[in-house]
Amino acid sequence: MGSRVAVIGAGPSGLAQLHAFEEARKKGAEVPEVVCFEKQSDWGGLWNYSWRTGLDEFGEPAHGSMYRFLWSNGPKECLEFADYTFEEHFGKPIPSFPPREVLADYILGRAKKNDVRRFIQFATAVRWVSYDESTEKFTVTVEDLAAGETRREVFDYVIVATGHFSVPNVPHYEGFETFPGRVLHSHDFRDAREFAGQDVLVMGSSYSAEDLALQSKKYGAKSVTITYRTAPMGFTWPEGIDEVPQLVKLDGEVAHFKDGTSRRVDAIVLCTGYKHHFPFLADELRLRTKNVLYPANLYKGVFWLDNPKLMYLGMQDQFYTMTLFDAEAWYARDYVLGRVSLPSRQEMAADIDKWVQRESTLSADAEMIDFQADHVAELLADVDYPKFDLDLTRKLFRDWEHDKQESIIGYRDRGFRSPCTGTEAPVHHTPWWEAMDDSLETYLNGPKEG
Ligand SMILES: Cc1cc2nc3c(=O)[nH]c(=O)nc-3n(C[C@H](O)[C@H](O)[C@H](O)COP(=O)(O)OP(=O)(O)OC[C@H]3O[C@@H](n4cnc5c(N)ncnc54)[C@H](O)[C@@H]3O)c2cc1C
Repeated sequence: MGSRVAVIGAGPSGLAQLHAFEEARKKGAEVPEVVCFEKQSDWGGLWNYSWRTGLDEFGEPAHGSMYRFLWSNGPKECLEFADYTFEEHFGKPIPSFPPREVLADYILGRAKKNDVRRFIQFATAVRWVSYDESTEKFTVTVEDLAAGETRREVFDYVIVATGHFSVPNVPHYEGFETFPGRVLHSHDFRDAREFAGQDVLVMGSSYSAEDLALQSKKYGAKSVTITYRTAPMGFTWPEGIDEVPQLVKLDGEVAHFKDGTSRRVDAIVLCTGYKHHFPFLADELRLRTKNVLYPANLYKGVFWLDNPKLMYLGMQDQFYTMTLFDAEAWYARDYVLGRVSLPSRQEMAADIDKWVQRESTLSADAEMIDFQADHVAELLADVDYPKFDLDLTRKLFRDWEHDKQESIIGYRDRGFRSPCTGTEAPVHHTPWWEAMDDSLETYLNGPKEG
């Protein structure tokens, strides 16, 4: 029997993997049998928007963490597929910060073009993966969620693409039990209009806190207080949003902060991050990491040091997303196809150490962006991914950081140059702060008449 590859998850990372194999096959390579298991009933991962929170329709923990009215928080030019540009998909240049539905349409457009859906078994959750040293094969136990039936399959390679923004990290503060309003994690946030007219407390100082604070205000919250643990984000916030030091406790509906101040609030949104969580992997195969740019034990950010036939995609903290996933997927594919070989365990460990050590010296965002761009560049150097201007994306990210400092509500109203086609993006027809309708139709064709 030929070799078999299991891909776990049909989000952007898993789809990149299926696409990479398909591209090789189309060019005449003999590719192994690839089977993708996806626990949801459709593809797209986080981009497959669902109103559900808590449990999904199968009683599984809901995967979705995306919310209505989410617009790209980075320039789309920094995530453009080099082999399937935005212009190819939409037939015209589009602005740089599209809403969720538009990005999802693009991501799935490439997957549809190559018809990789045929490799995916939907509503099928991977329950357990183990490795047998004597046969040198993996046994993957999956459950068909609709039928409630479990079965085992044997694979030569396993590629984990299950994402790491779905299992919330939830702190506890004194007084949560008796707080009369809603306390929710950003994983369960779906529609900012829920908080219209309310005084909202947002806890955190990363992307989720930034965006949910803005969302809530944009859609009508009376005020938004952002409480930070170590340092404020420090943007020039629009009127009605401000940052205060760490929450100490709640007393009824009154929040008390470390600087001795207090405020009455109606709802609390915990933007306190996510956990890398792989309950389906045997201990010796399981990645244990925080959200960092270079998780330890992953050579090239992909290969499990103790057993490189196990690969992980997209496990990094992400400035780059689709571009990084493609680079990793191409590299993983070429390892499976025998086109690239890996050095000794000792050399891989030393290489990982070098990157981990470098990450520990970084402080400014610009350095982190360069670090991740270097990682992407290193992967791309060895594979046949189509050429694009990666150095331009470093610059675009720096410009974007600068724009955010200048105006946190205005940074999305800029157009950037594509690293793939060289085309300058048009500026969107409506400033983001005033654009309430995020539908694909309105985004592409302008506001409806009347
Ligand atoms: C709120 C939010 C906003 C974001 N905004 C942006 C943005 O604007 N731009 C951007 O580029 N990125 C954004 N991201 C980053 C996001 O990580 C990536 O865009 C992308 O979705 C990651 O793809 P992935 O395939 O690695 O993981 P996911 O998209 O999480 O997909 C993983 C898939 O694995 C499946 N799965 C999990 N466990 C199992 C199992 N045991 N068995 C079978 N299947 C399983 C899941 O159902 C899911 O379909 C955002 C993330 C969040 C949380």
